[in-house]
Amino acid sequence: MHDGPSGIETRTLRGGPIAAALRDDIAGRAAALAAEGRAPKLCVVVAGDDPAAHAYAQSKGRTAAKLAIGYEVVSVAPTAGQAGLIAAVDRLNADPAVHGILIDLPVAPGMDAEAALDRIDRLKDVDGLTAGNIGLVQLNRESEAIVPATPAACIRLAEEAGPLAGRRVTVVGRGRSVGRALAPMLVNRDATVTVCHSRTRDLPDALRTAEVVFVAAGRAGLIGASDLQPGQVVIDAGINMVDGGIVGDVDPAGLDGRVAAFTPVPGGVGPLTSTLIFANLLRAMALQTGGGAVADAAKEATA
Ligand code: NAP
Repeated sequence: MHDGPSGIETRTLRGGPIAAALRDDIAGRAAALAAEGRAPKLCVVVAGDDPAAHAYAQSKGRTAAKLAIGYEVVSVAPTAGQAGLIAAVDRLNADPAVHGILIDLPVAPGMDAEAALDRIDRLKDVDGLTAGNIGLVQLNRESEAIVPATPAACIRLAEEAGPLAGRRVTVVGRGRSVGRALAPMLVNRDATVTVCHSRTRDLPDALRTAEVVFVAAGRAGLIGASDLQPGQVVIDAGINMVDGGIVGDVDPAGLDGRVAAFTPVPGGVGPLTSTLIFANLLRAMALQTGGGAVADAAKEATA
């Protein structure tokens, strides 16, 4: 907590502590399922040689190991093409021992990640990014969906700073991983939502009038302290590689003492997202068996 020149105490909203508490719960539930002979298993498809995709897969593997959850990286050679990628997804869809499937991005040039995502069985879609799951979210039927992990993490962190119902909220980005589902999830929570994108004419105006700002554009430094108003809450989902390090879409310089709360990058949304993937894995298992045996950890996380 920091008290700046304008007298505003700024909170840093970190995903790690929330994720740690959630992991204890997930590990307990996973162990109980394993004892019943239904050990959860997540498979991550890495299609190509992109170092970022391999790094994401390794990072999830470390979380899986901490949770004692089964985990496998399924590599698809760049030469296998789209047919190879689809075949890998189909095989995992059909395998009853696999409960969750993810495709780490980016895939190899020439492969269509969107088409492969849509091929994932919606009940194994632990990222919550298939048309079926995003559609249910859009219809305010989150209890039937596997809820997208990154938007869920963004909302959970924003709620640390106060309830969202009735708030004026601006979302910057309408991409499939974050903004596309985040906007309806905020509407579902009774926020009043403005969505901005690359064709928005007056982004500064949309930022000025918001009480809570969510940013997921994938543009380093797109928003700075001078774009933000005293007392706003700022949630930054952006991940950008700059000079070998990770930065967000919001330049953190000058935020302390100006905004009410913000998520750092790294250390904000990311650590919570990676844990919510595993909460979604248990959620997926419950849906696959027709319901309530496993409580809905992802929904509880944003309740
Ligand atoms: P995306 O599909 O590339 O979408 C980016 C969005 O930002 C688009 O809607 C785009 O507008 C908009 N945009 C780009 N430049 C803009 C500008 N100058 N002003 C306003 N809007 C602009 O991205 P995504 O997959 O949703 O991911 C967004 C970010 O979140 C990325 O940095 C990604 O790495 C990160 N991410 C983080 C996590 C996490 O756990 N923290 C997880 C997943 C993704 P148009 O629609 O008009 O093109």
